[in-house]
Amino acid sequence: MDDRTYIKSHIRTVPDWPEPGVQFRDITPLLQNPKVFRVLIDQFVHRYFDVRPDVVAGLDARGFIIGSVLAYELNVGFVPIRKKGKLPFTTVEETYELEYGSATVELHTDAVKPGDRVVLIDDLIATGGTMMAGKRLLERLGAQVIEGAAIVELPELGGADKLRAAGLPLFTLVSFE
Ligand code: 5GP
Repeated sequence: MDDRTYIKSHIRTVPDWPEPGVQFRDITPLLQNPKVFRVLIDQFVHRYFDVRPDVVAGLDARGFIIGSVLAYELNVGFVPIRKKGKLPFTTVEETYELEYGSATVELHTDAVKPGDRVVLIDDLIATGGTMMAGKRLLERLGAQVIEGAAIVELPELGGADKLRAAGLPLFTLVSFE
C-alpha cells in the first residue's frame, strides 16, 4: 500500500455530522496511531524540507496539530490563525461567508514580517473559504504564501480549484469524491 492510500485508510467518515447530509472526514484516527501519524507528517516534511519556508501558519484548530509538528521538524516558527476572540495581542481579521452565516479569523499583527515565505496548513479544504481568509491575512501583513497544504481536499466543493485559480499552489495528500 502506498503512503497516501495508507493515510486515506485511517480517515474515518462519519455520516450526518455535524448535520444531516454531511459526511464528516474525521482525521483523529490518523493522529492516534503513531505509525501513520509519522508517515503523515513525513509527507509534509519531505515536501517542504528543501523549500525552507520562514514560517508555518496553521488554521484553527486541526491545522495547529499538523502545522506545529511540521514547523518543529523544519526548525522554523509556527503561527496560529485563530477564530475570532482568541488571540490576546493586536490582530488583523478577515470575515468570510459560510453556507449559513459567516466566520471571522484573526492573526497577530507581528506574526509574520513583510517578505516572509509562509506555508499555510489545515487538515481539510472544503469550500476553500478558511484557507482563502488565512491567505489574505498573511498577505495583508506583507508575507508571501508560497503554498497551501492540507491532508484532504474535497474536489466536489470546488474550494481547491478556487484557491488554485486565485494563485495559491496547493499540496494535498488525499481526496474524497
Ligand atoms: P472550508 O472553509 O474549506 O469550507 O472548510 C474547511 C475548514 O472546515 C477546515 O478548517 C476544516 O478543519 C473544517 N472542515 C470542514 N469540513 C470538514 C470535514 O469533513 N472534516 C474535517 N476534518 N474538517 C472539516
